Amino acid sequence: MNPEELTAWLRRFAELVHEHRDELTALDSAIGDADHGANLDRGMTAVLAALQEAPPADAAALLKKTGATLVSKVGGASGPLYGTLFLRMAGAVDGGFAPALRAGFDGVLARGKAEPGDKTMVDALGPACDVLDAGGSVAEAAQAAADGRDATVPLVARKGRASYLGERSAGHADPGATSTALLLRAAAETLR
Ligand code: ADP
Ligand code: MG
Ligand code: MG
Repeated sequence: MNPEELTAWLRRFAELVHEHRDELTALDSAIGDADHGANLDRGMTAVLAALQEAPPADAAALLKKTGATLVSKVGGASGPLYGTLFLRMAGAVDGGFAPALRAGFDGVLARGKAEPGDKTMVDALGPACDVLDAGGSVAEAAQAAADGRDATVPLVARKGRASYLGERSAGHADPGATSTALLLRAAAETLR
C-alpha cells in the first residue's frame, strides 16, 4: 500500500467521523459517557494535522504516526484501542490491507480483551477481517462491519463503560462498533 491511498482513507474516515459526531455521541450517551464522537473527532483532526505537518515517507511510518497520535490525543477506551489498531497495522502493511487489518484487529483483542458478542468495536472489525481473509472485497468487508454494528443492538455489553449498565445496555448500537463501520466504509470508498 502506498502512503497516498492510506492518507485518502484516513481523510475520509476523519470526514465521516466529523459528519457522524453527534450520532456517535448520542449512542455513547445512551450506554456510556457521551464522548465517543468528540473523542474520535478530536483524534482524527489531530492525525490529519500531524500527517500534514510532516508527511511520512512510507505506509508503515504513516500508520505508526496515526496510531501514536490517537493514543496521545484521545483519552478513554477508544484512544488506546484505535491507536493499537493502527500501530499494529503498521507492522503488517507490506502484505496489503487485509493482513494489516487482521494484525490490527489482533492488537485490539490483545489490548482490550473483548470477545465477539461483548458489544464492542470487535463486533464490527472481526467480521470485516473475516471477509477480507476469505478474499472478499473491501466493499463486502464494509457491509460485514455494518451488519456487525447492527448486530450489537440487542446485545448486553460485557466490556467498557457500557458494561456498567448491565441489561440496560441492550437496545442501542455500540458506539465503537458504529465508528468502526465508518472506518470500513471509508476504506470501501478510497481503497481498491
Ligand atoms: P470511553 O468508553 O472510555 O468513554 P469511548 O467512548 O471513546 O471511550 O469508546 C467507547 C467504545 O470503546 C465502546 O463503544 C466500545 O466499542 C469500545 N470498547 C470499550 N472497551 C473495549 C474493550 N475492552 N475492547 C474493545 N473495545 C472496547
Ligand atoms: Mg465514552
Ligand atoms: Mg470517556
